[in-house]
Amino acid sequence: MKARSDFRKGLENLKPFFLVYILVFMKISDSVTRIEGTTAHSYSVEHEGQVVLIDAGMKSSAKKIVDYYGEIGKKPDVILITHYHVDHIGGLALLNEKYSPKIYAPKEEIPVIEGKSRPAQPKSMLSKFVSVFGKTDIVSGVLPVEEFQSQWMKAIPTIGHTPGSTSYLFEPEGMLFVGDAVNIKGSEATVNKQFSLDLVKAEESRKKIMSMSGATILPGHGDPLKL
Ligand SMILES: [Zn+2]
Repeated sequence: MKARSDFRKGLENLKPFFLVYILVFMKISDSVTRIEGTTAHSYSVEHEGQVVLIDAGMKSSAKKIVDYYGEIGKKPDVILITHYHVDHIGGLALLNEKYSPKIYAPKEEIPVIEGKSRPAQPKSMLSKFVSVFGKTDIVSGVLPVEEFQSQWMKAIPTIGHTPGSTSYLFEPEGMLFVGDAVNIKGSEATVNKQFSLDLVKAEESRKKIMSMSGATILPGHGDPLKL
């Protein structure tokens, strides 16, 4: 009997391990959800029967996006990419294979996403270091964001962080998905100097974003910031 109760105790001790994997996501509003654990945040927007995913996380975390859609029993019809950095496009190949969505990205960044050219590197050592580890699988058939048509989601150029950095405004709720055009820390929105290619243009884009009073910034890194 002792052995049996020890066994049961053992099972009880194991419980936390079964609970380790919990799907985490954060409701930003009725329509917008942040999918947690994708390194750079991915956001899912549901509106008028359409599901739009903004950014695709790291290759290693794409499964979390798949799990999220599995949980809600939906799939992304469209994926909008803010820019070509690996923590925003790494999951694209898996998501493309699984859902065959329409994928839109900044025109000048598509050759990188499709594996036809390498991204330009900022001068910082940290950026060079990180680029060695970034792995993505090639995705083809990516469409230029100029071709994206929507009554309620608008693409806004916010270049500087990368050559084509684009923000997306979900107009009904004033939600602005900025990728890495600005990083948010507390109530501060800053340009990421280590990883941005053109600091002058990036600062101009930061000002452009900050001038959108009433909007809520949803960044790739950091928490929402209401302007
Ligand atoms: Zn970036």
